[in-house]
Amino acid sequence: MQRRDLLKAASAAAAAMAVRPLAARADDVPGDASGDAPIQADVVVVGGGTAGTVAAIQAARAGAKTVLIERGSQLGGTMTVGGVAFPGLFHAWGKQVIAGIGWELVTQTVKLDGGTLPDFKKKSRRHWEQQVLINPHLYAVLAEEACIAAGVSIRYYEFPLSVERKADGWMVESVGPGVRKRIACRQLVDCTGGGDVVGMLKLERLREDETQPGSMLFKVGDSFRAGRERLQAVYVHGADSSTSASRTRATIAGRQAMLKQIRKGLARKRLVQVQPEAAFRESYRIRGETVITHDDYVSGRKFDDAVCYAFYPVDLHTRSGVKPKPLADGVVPTVPLRALVPKGSRNILAAGRCVSSDRLANSGLRVQASCMAMGQAAGAAAALAAKRKTTPLDVPFDDLTRLLRDHDAIVPERPRK
Ligand SMILES: Cc1cc2nc3c(=O)[nH]c(=O)nc-3n(C[C@H](O)[C@H](O)[C@H](O)COP(=O)(O)OP(=O)(O)OC[C@H]3O[C@@H](n4cnc5c(N)ncnc54)[C@H](O)[C@@H]3O)c2cc1C
Repeated sequence: MQRRDLLKAASAAAAAMAVRPLAARADDVPGDASGDAPIQADVVVVGGGTAGTVAAIQAARAGAKTVLIERGSQLGGTMTVGGVAFPGLFHAWGKQVIAGIGWELVTQTVKLDGGTLPDFKKKSRRHWEQQVLINPHLYAVLAEEACIAAGVSIRYYEFPLSVERKADGWMVESVGPGVRKRIACRQLVDCTGGGDVVGMLKLERLREDETQPGSMLFKVGDSFRAGRERLQAVYVHGADSSTSASRTRATIAGRQAMLKQIRKGLARKRLVQVQPEAAFRESYRIRGETVITHDDYVSGRKFDDAVCYAFYPVDLHTRSGVKPKPLADGVVPTVPLRALVPKGSRNILAAGRCVSSDRLANSGLRVQASCMAMGQAAGAAAALAAKRKTTPLDVPFDDLTRLLRDHDAIVPERPRK
């Protein structure tokens, strides 16, 4: 064959390949050979943010076939996409009170990034001194690696379109660009931040008329050294994470507020970093089987079904700013399992900032270390409930605490009767 004929033949072959339909189906994800049949899972976690990533890893490490649905393209949620990359608080009054999978991911990130941890022995009332500065880019990748190693099936760019109750669990219809997939599971864990799945199921949620502002995080200057410094922030009043429309409004408002600041005072400095979307402090909270009150929080009530500690000042942001109110010496609040279980529900838990609590208690409970600890507890309860074909509140509590401790979580001792 002449060289010219060879080139002609090669380009004809390339053209034929270009129009040949793809062998892989558009809704295939790695490891999913289910075709049109529903994927069978034990646990579905919705939302791969601060709490959800940890919930999914815990459920999978406990042996549950776990699917994680995340509407974005990376894990970490507010910590990474929001740019709030200073998780706290793992320590209270000089002692570690939250550990487990969240702590593992945070310390791995700091180590690989060559960063340093604060001096936790210092019994400081300045809570920000005890927050860990992490490189959010690295955290997202390490969290993803840990999910994959645990066997979690991650579905990015998807969100649940419908969730239907079944006799033995749920049928979730998950959609994304080019994908419409049914997933049958025994247990659901809602880690969407604002309890989106709980809302879809018409289970009760709590919400204030005026919510705390969100923030748009950005940096002007010569450079931004992720993991070594914090971003700047402008408040976004009325920021609401409930729908794509309200998220759009908040993100545009955040960018405009940032631009105004740049135009006003920072003109000689370059914009070097802007987060892709606004970060949200408050929207819906679930109404759980119990509601943690401000009094429970500031008195450090030891719930008899406490699954983790939480530690942070009462930290309510308003139009006039924030004045954190530190907890009294020695006080360490706890989070009961019943605050992670939507009232009147079966086979569903929720974890993260949507924890069942009144507004002031929530302003302290919503922070990252506490969200991670709640996520781990919810993942463990979901895995055990799926295994035993029961609902989370019927899992023997000692089995739950044993599983959590086996996975390095710190669980409060049960108060003596
Ligand atoms: C500006 C700001 C400053 C803060 N400062 C601190 C601080 O200094 N220290 C601290 O520890 N905490 C701080 N917090 C609080 C803390 O960051 C958040 O409350 C916490 O990260 C929330 O965790 P989460 O898991 O509930 O939600 P997120 O981390 O927001 O995760 C929710 C995830 O769910 C996904 N999702 C949402 N809806 C759907 C859906 N329908 N389908 C699929 N996926 C969905 C989202 O994409 C996201 O990944 C701050 C928060 C803000 C906004």
